[in-house]
Amino acid sequence: MLDYIIVGSGLSGISIAEHLLSRGKKILVFDDNSQASSTVAGGIYNPVILKRFTLAWNANEQLDTALSFYENLEKKLNVKLIKSLPIYRRFHSIEEQNNWFSAMDKPFLSEFLDEKLVSTINPHIPSSYSFGHVKNTGVIDTELLLEKYREYLLHINSFQEESFNYDDFELNSDHCNYKKWKAKKVIFCDGFGLKKNPYFNYLPLSGNKGEYLIIKAKDLKLEVAVKSSVFIIPLGEDLYKVGATYNNWDKTKVPTQDGRDYLLEKLNSFLKCDFEIVDQVAGIRLATKDRKPLVGKHPKHKNMYCCNGFGSRGVLIGPTVASELIKSIEDAIPLSEEIDVKRYEKLYQADLS
Ligand SMILES: Cc1cc2nc3c(=O)[nH]c(=O)nc-3n(C[C@H](O)[C@H](O)[C@H](O)COP(=O)(O)OP(=O)(O)OC[C@H]3O[C@@H](n4cnc5c(N)ncnc54)[C@H](O)[C@@H]3O)c2cc1C
Repeated sequence: MLDYIIVGSGLSGISIAEHLLSRGKKILVFDDNSQASSTVAGGIYNPVILKRFTLAWNANEQLDTALSFYENLEKKLNVKLIKSLPIYRRFHSIEEQNNWFSAMDKPFLSEFLDEKLVSTINPHIPSSYSFGHVKNTGVIDTELLLEKYREYLLHINSFQEESFNYDDFELNSDHCNYKKWKAKKVIFCDGFGLKKNPYFNYLPLSGNKGEYLIIKAKDLKLEVAVKSSVFIIPLGEDLYKVGATYNNWDKTKVPTQDGRDYLLEKLNSFLKCDFEIVDQVAGIRLATKDRKPLVGKHPKHKNMYCCNGFGSRGVLIGPTVASELIKSIEDAIPLSEEIDVKRYEKLYQADLS
C-alpha cells in the first residue's frame, strides 16, 4: 500500500513529493509530459511585481522557504540549481522612476528596491532613463531540477512515466486503486491537465500561454537580467532567454509565429547588437480568478487533493504552499482560507446540479 499517488512532477509535484518523502511517506509519481510550464519557465524568483512596483502575494515569506527548499535539493541531487542574479528594471519614463521611489516607502519593498538608480548597465542596452536594481533575486534552473528529480524518483522506484488515466482509477472509503497500485491518498499536481481532470475541473483555472525566444548574442556579455518591455535573462555561453508573451486564447504548448514576431519587435526596441534565434519554447501559466493558488481537499472525496494555480510565480509559491497542504493532511493544521479550494465549493455544487 502506497501512502500517496501524485499526478504531475512539475514544480508543484516536486514540492509535494519532497515534503512527503521528508516524512518517510511511500509515494508514486506519474507524469506523461503533457504539460511544460515548469520546464519552459524563466525560473526567476523575484518578490517584486515590476509593472506596479508592489510586493507579490506573500512573496517575502515565501522567499526564505523557497531558497532553503532548493538548497536542500541541490545537496540531495548533487546539482547546481540556484543562481543569484540581479534584475535591472529599465525605466520608460520619469514617472516610472518616481514610482520606484514612492514604492520604497511601502512595507518590505525597501529590502528589494535599491535606492541608487544606475544610468548604464550594458553598451548594447541604451536607455534615455535610468535602471532600477531589484535586490535578492535569482533564477532556479527548473529544467535541470525536473530532469534530475525524475531521475531520483526513478532511482527510488517512485516514478511512472505515463498518463494517469481516470478510467482506471477507483476510490474506496479509505484508499484508492489505480491499475496494480493501492494508495491511501492521491494528490493532483497536474497543472493545466486539471482541465481534463473530472474531479477538480470545476475549479476556475484558466491557462495563459507564454512563449520565450532563446537567442545567441556573442557581443552582449550581459551578466544580469534586464526587464524592459520583455525580460532578457542570461543563460551562459552567450545564450539568453527573451520573453515572455501573454496569450489567453491559445491553450497549446506549441510555439507560434505571432509569439516570435511579438518578442522580436519588443527585443529590437531596446537591444542594439546582433543576435540569432536558436530556439523558441512555450508553456501554459496556471492563472486563477483571484490570483491565489488552488490547494486542498476535494469537496466530496476525503482522500483526494489538489495543488495547482501558481500563476507566474511557481518557483516561489510551490515550496510554501505544498508544505501547507501536507501539514493540513498529516498534522490537521487548517489551510489558510485564501488558498483553500473550499472557497470554490459553490462551483462544485453548481456543477453537480
Ligand atoms: C512562459 C512562462 C514563464 C514562466 N516564468 C516563470 C518564472 O520566471 N518564475 C516563476 O516562478 N514561474 C514562472 N512561470 C510559472 C511556473 O512555470 C508555474 O507556476 C509552474 O511551473 C507550475 O507548476 P505546476 O507543477 O503546477 O504545473 P506544470 O509544470 O504544468 O506541471 C504539471 C505536470 O503534470 C503533468 N500531468 C498533467 N496531467 C497529467 C496526467 N493525466 N497524467 C500524468 N501527468 C500529468 C504534466 O505533464 C506536467 O509535468 C512561467 C510560466 C510560463 C508558461
